[in-house]
Amino acid sequence: MPTANPAPHENPASSSLKIPFGLAPDGQLYESGQVPNGNACGCVCPGCRKPIQAVHPASRKVTPYFRHIADCNCATGYESAVHLAAKQLIAERMAVWCPPLIASYSVVDALSNRHPLHKELCPPALTTLRNVQRERGLHGITPDIVADSDIHGQMLIEIAFTHFVDGDKLDKLRKNGSSAIEIDVSHLRTLDFQVLASVLFEPSTHTKWLFHPALNAAIRQFREDIKPTLDEAKELSELQRRKKKIDDARLQEVLKWQNAAYAQLKQNAAAREAQFHSLTAIAKQEWLERRLGPISTWPEVLKTFNRHASAVEEHPVIWQAALYLKFVHKTAPRKDALDYWDAVAWMRKRFHCVESDEVLHRALRYFLKVLCNHGVLSKQLGGRYLVICDDPAQFHRVKRAAETPAP
Ligand SMILES: [Zn+2]
Repeated sequence: MPTANPAPHENPASSSLKIPFGLAPDGQLYESGQVPNGNACGCVCPGCRKPIQAVHPASRKVTPYFRHIADCNCATGYESAVHLAAKQLIAERMAVWCPPLIASYSVVDALSNRHPLHKELCPPALTTLRNVQRERGLHGITPDIVADSDIHGQMLIEIAFTHFVDGDKLDKLRKNGSSAIEIDVSHLRTLDFQVLASVLFEPSTHTKWLFHPALNAAIRQFREDIKPTLDEAKELSELQRRKKKIDDARLQEVLKWQNAAYAQLKQNAAAREAQFHSLTAIAKQEWLERRLGPISTWPEVLKTFNRHASAVEEHPVIWQAALYLKFVHKTAPRKDALDYWDAVAWMRKRFHCVESDEVLHRALRYFLKVLCNHGVLSKQLGGRYLVICDDPAQFHRVKRAAETPAP
């Protein structure tokens, strides 16, 4: 509806002096070409209602128009003219073009799948109107046009130039319950009845539905139709949740069992360590012979004289053979490398280390150096020794080893 208040996004044409239609004494709008030229037209401005004159330019390229006779700051002439002309045309033709009425609904199910639903409730059509009334007050709103139609019932028609229907007015329209469309004419610049009619009565992207009572029913139907799918998704989601709960519980059970098994293994290992530690030197030798064969067949390198032998109560041949069996022999669980500090800890748990740590270190390093000299190990950075050869037949440099000086 036209208003004297400044528009928030004023159309530049609204303040133009060129007014497309003049309001004649008979209450009808006329194009400039339909009335006498100049002041004789007898028309007033549809906005400010001050006298205007028809301008019939000599050039046919210029469309005839109206302008105010006296200078004035009228900013509503163009907009009012467009509004009144649109209403006048609809009232004369008793029709309006309506876009397709499409109900849309979208919902996300319990499995996070989106279901967009669309249905065309009415095809686009030039809709015949009855009882066309302009500016009729209706439950707190005054639509530009109120009319009846067979297809859409009572229809409210809004012509939008600078003032489009806002949220507040849309709420009132919805409460009213009648179908409502808005026709956007803000894009029209040079204007006559023919141009305006093409927007009002021919297919146009400038007309949209604001509300339609059939939409609510369609949405209700959508909800009913989609309910079985949503219920199914909910059931599936619940099943997945339960299955996950069971899987989680099983996983916890497995982890618990694994932890218990690991603790048992550690306990067994500790028991074996303690048991081996408590064996006499002779018993330890017998234990080793059961695994490596008679002591006479052991690789000579294990029998190397260790000048730091006092570090351990047992004879060096016994603990050197045991260390070899643990970390180098082909039956060793991790024979790819030997970690020096693992070896130290291992020794302390299995043998009676009687001297200070320093002497034990000397004894161990000496033996490891001998193994390196025989090509059995290769010393790496960070106290690691790679196992190069686990075949005693290849330990061939035993004589030189015997002469190896202490580190
Ligand atoms: Zn005016």
